[in-house]
Amino acid sequence: MPLRNEFMATERTLTIIKPDGVAAGLTGAILAKLEQAQLTIRGIRRLRLSTAQAEAFYAVHRERKFFGDLVRFMTEGPVVPVVLEGENAIARLREIMGATDPSKAAEGTIRKLYASNIERNVIHGSDAPETARQEIAFFFAEADLV
Ligand code: ATP
Ligand code: MG
Repeated sequence: MPLRNEFMATERTLTIIKPDGVAAGLTGAILAKLEQAQLTIRGIRRLRLSTAQAEAFYAVHRERKFFGDLVRFMTEGPVVPVVLEGENAIARLREIMGATDPSKAAEGTIRKLYASNIERNVIHGSDAPETARQEIAFFFAEADLV
């Protein structure tokens, strides 16, 4: 069986360990799960988002009724943004994260294991190639991805 085929592509994606995951001391456990899935860490930071940064990062949800709560949650403490690289990294990260609502997430996924509810769900993942590019650039300079 070939190791690669034309449907596979090495991609980069952005994940963020959200304030609930960092505060619960889950950074290492979550990173271990991602690395075990052959997603390679190319860049990693620890920072606290300002309100303006959180609003900009989740601007696509500006009109949703949960937006204010989401911004408060994402700024309540430090987060750990990480650039991951691997085959089909964007879709595979989403699969390993599990559904937004942990009660609907598949067994063994990060959200099923660790998330509290649909808002406090411990991890973010880019949802498409264009958003991955934008979200990576939000936190990292190309020269820092090694
Ligand atoms: P993320 O973008 O963080 O990876 P997602 O793509 O699974 O999550 P989105 O629909 O993009 O889900 O929502 C972004 C985030 O907003 C969710 O991860 C969650 O923290 C919060 N959120 C989404 N829907 C709700 C809701 N109905 N009530 C409260 N918070 C929500
Ligand atoms: Mg999303």
